[in-house]
Amino acid sequence: MGAGLSVPAGALRVAVLGALGRMGRQVCQAVAADATLELVAAVDPLAPVGPLPPVGLSGPPVQPEREAAAEAGAEVVVDFTVPSAALGNALWCAARGLHCVVGTTGLDSQDLGRLRDAFAAGPANCLVAPNFAIGAVLMMRFAELAAPWFEGVEVVELHHAGKLDAPSGTARLTAERVAAAREDAGQVAGPERAARTPAEGAFPVARGEEVAPGVRVHSVRLPGLVAHQEVIFGTAGEVLTLRHDSLDRASFMPGALLAVKRVGELRGLTVGLDSLLGL
Ligand code: NAP
Repeated sequence: MGAGLSVPAGALRVAVLGALGRMGRQVCQAVAADATLELVAAVDPLAPVGPLPPVGLSGPPVQPEREAAAEAGAEVVVDFTVPSAALGNALWCAARGLHCVVGTTGLDSQDLGRLRDAFAAGPANCLVAPNFAIGAVLMMRFAELAAPWFEGVEVVELHHAGKLDAPSGTARLTAERVAAAREDAGQVAGPERAARTPAEGAFPVARGEEVAPGVRVHSVRLPGLVAHQEVIFGTAGEVLTLRHDSLDRASFMPGALLAVKRVGELRGLTVGLDSLLGL
């Protein structure tokens, strides 16, 4: 139970994996502050078993093992851990019949395929979203709309220096969705649409990574940044820049809590927050 808040009967029971991380702490606080939710377990391998560190919370002690989530009767498990742990955690949720919300980035299409199979086979659902900020979800949708109308596009993503994966999950998803939107519109995707690069070895070149056909992504890692992205479209005589900035991790909380509250009514695996926002 959160900081002196009374939890009404019927509150959704939530566990947070990665509770001592930058995102996990915020999620613990947001869950504890929401009267319709109850924080029943907080898990992190670094846990010095004891009171939950986020200021003012009198929640459950942080436990080192995810079994604590099942033992506490969690109905929804939220994962903000590390790429190497997130898939295993979500598969564990599927096996336990626990709904799962994955915010951790770095899962690839093969991982998503495994999650799709695992959650299709059981009673629980899973929502994976590389970005819970509403503005970032809209940015990806706007990028899809713009994609068929511009000859070229590149993505620049900028994050804090502690981020483990690059390119970011948001950038990967943006690139994939832009490429798919172009393909749906019958545009040619592939080398002839991509910016020209010199023959291998001709001279040093830094052109980011072609994450999806014809869509290059550039990653910046700097102290002081939180999470930012530009999608830059160009065609004859004009440039369209879509930019989103998460200036504080609080930006991710409304979307994350929406996912927690609604994951139970989805079916199997859902990728992205779009369907919950009616996009
Ligand atoms: P972080 O500060 O490194 O936090 C991750 C925490 O998870 C660490 O305390 C880590 O402990 C812990 N952990 C590692 N393995 C675990 C396991 N098996 N079970 C439970 N906890 C485990 O990272 P962050 O900045 O909070 O970011 C977490 C993830 O969220 C990243 O993938 C990031 O890209 C993503 N993210 C997503 C969104 C979104 O909107 N979806 C927004 C921001 C960030 P150790 O230190 O011992 O490894």
